[in-house]
Amino acid sequence: MRKKIVAGNWKMNMDYTSGLSLFSEVLNMVKDEVTGTQEVVVCAPFIHLQSLSQLAAQQSRVTIGAQNCHQAESGAYTGEISAAMLRSVGVSYVILGHSERRQYFGETDALLAEKVNVALKNNLKPIFCIGETLDERNSGKYFDVIKRQLGDGIFHLSDADFSKLVIAYEPVWAIGTGLTATPEQAQEVHAFIRKELAAKYGEAIANDTTILYGGSCNPKNAADLFSQADIDGGLIGGASLKSRDFTDIIKAFN
Ligand code: PEP
Repeated sequence: MRKKIVAGNWKMNMDYTSGLSLFSEVLNMVKDEVTGTQEVVVCAPFIHLQSLSQLAAQQSRVTIGAQNCHQAESGAYTGEISAAMLRSVGVSYVILGHSERRQYFGETDALLAEKVNVALKNNLKPIFCIGETLDERNSGKYFDVIKRQLGDGIFHLSDADFSKLVIAYEPVWAIGTGLTATPEQAQEVHAFIRKELAAKYGEAIANDTTILYGGSCNPKNAADLFSQADIDGGLIGGASLKSRDFTDIIKAFN
């Protein structure tokens, strides 16, 4: 049975104090209001991770993620952070391949494959993001793009490693734009992804893989998106910065 997950991506927002208050509010709301089995992940900037891990220790269904790691184990990479460092402060997940990293930092599928390897080696579960741009959607190439990102980024993994990974389908045209994919558009791509996984890893692994939707998900559209057969939760950007909105999205599973 695959896991249902709602993951927040704070991006480069929240100073230390604001982040701690937001997270404490989320913890309390989840404790008081959320029933069901869905896991909640908060992917925060590096400065928050250790404190959030300590706070989350009181709430077993909330776990902590980072938003990036370097592909090397350690070394002379000024300003970077390693997977082992993240793990050492209690981080469980790491977002890899977010479109903002691909677009603004030139991260390629080949580089992302290295990052996925180092994350898994250090017991971090990658939330591996894929998705097409507006041009790629309009020119009908989106299935090719998804296929390439899967093939070059994660299809080198063994069955055992692949089973630890979460995939997030995030159409680039929907991220931070208010233009959410319709539940049908999202389901179409999620079903395609699951079919590709089945062809590569078999039905059992494909059925057990959590595939999240990301892109302007909010409390109004979450329930419709999450009710689709192949959508197992969401990766939430803007709406994860407001405890009420984020909690209402988590509750959309109930
Ligand atoms: C994201 O950045 O992963 C994201 C989905 O952002 P937003 O929800 O703001 O579109």
